[in-house]
Amino acid sequence: VKDHNKNGYAIYNEQMNKKALRRVVLETNLREAIANEDFFLEYQPIIELSTGSIVGMEVLVRWDHASLGTISPGEFIPLAEETGLIIPLGEWILREACLQTKRWQLQGLQSLRVSINVSVRQLQQQGRFVDSVKRILDEVELETKWIDFEITETALMKNEEEMIGVLNEIKSLGINISIDDFGTGYSSMYHLKSFSVDTLKIDCSFIGEMHTNPKSKAIVTSIIKLAQALNLKTIAEGVEVGDQLRLLSSEKANAIQGYYFSPPVSSKEFENYLLEGYMF
Ligand code: C2E
Ligand code: CA
Ligand code: CA
Ligand code: CA
Repeated sequence: VKDHNKNGYAIYNEQMNKKALRRVVLETNLREAIANEDFFLEYQPIIELSTGSIVGMEVLVRWDHASLGTISPGEFIPLAEETGLIIPLGEWILREACLQTKRWQLQGLQSLRVSINVSVRQLQQQGRFVDSVKRILDEVELETKWIDFEITETALMKNEEEMIGVLNEIKSLGINISIDDFGTGYSSMYHLKSFSVDTLKIDCSFIGEMHTNPKSKAIVTSIIKLAQALNLKTIAEGVEVGDQLRLLSSEKANAIQGYYFSPPVSSKEFENYLLEGYMF
């Protein structure tokens, strides 16, 4: 084979091949990783603005790969969704998150709501998803009021009738429902009309610019006003600097989440926040 490295096209191809190869490797390793439970969860605090105290946590999964190190969910969740492996993985995540939440409750630490990301593939199993949720909560003996499911707007847009049915069932169990990445999908308003949700998570793309871009700030302000009018709670995601915090506070967002307070941390570190009664 000739050396094509001086040729931009060949280099581009090589990078593509590397990416494709990594993808194939991850895809073949994923099934085994699920069987071996080679994953761990991190927890990011959700802080109530009016009190400065932690009121919840979002659970974020990571893959602890033997040779490649920690792999981010942005890379393997799409693979898990395509292959259907998100179903067993999602159950594992739900069980682990509920077990941890229950453990903290039994330790006498402040009770917190746990927010769990749910993929559209999980919801599309219809009755089977709701059954597995019920089974896990029974098993762990965790009350449904401590659970929040984060569902992206794009997920809601798929097969709408079916989604309305599943979400109503979930809600009737007493589980909180949040729309994740709110504002990034099309016809956001439409979804607010058809689905009964509890919380809007304002996407980090608006929060990240709200102190520098008047348009972004106007959008954030409008989402908060809209949520108030509809009796929904708001959580601002991706708060990184004090200027954003101050604006969100004066606009009366309910809660915030972001690196400004804490990145997602291990259960051990999160437990320390609770033990110290951390106030932000
Ligand atoms: P997401 O649900 O929108 O999660 C928020 C992402 O923003 C997380 O990335 C989090 O680490 C990151 N983040 C938090 N604070 C900040 C901040 O201040 N600035 C910036 N720039 N980023 C911040 P992560 O953990 O890499 O997760 C990426 C995505 O993977 C999630 O986006 C979610 O869609 C998906 N994901 C993660 N865990 C799960 C899971 O257990 N199940 C499913 N189905 N999807 C998951
Ligand atoms: Ca989320
Ligand atoms: Ca989000
Ligand atoms: Ca996102």
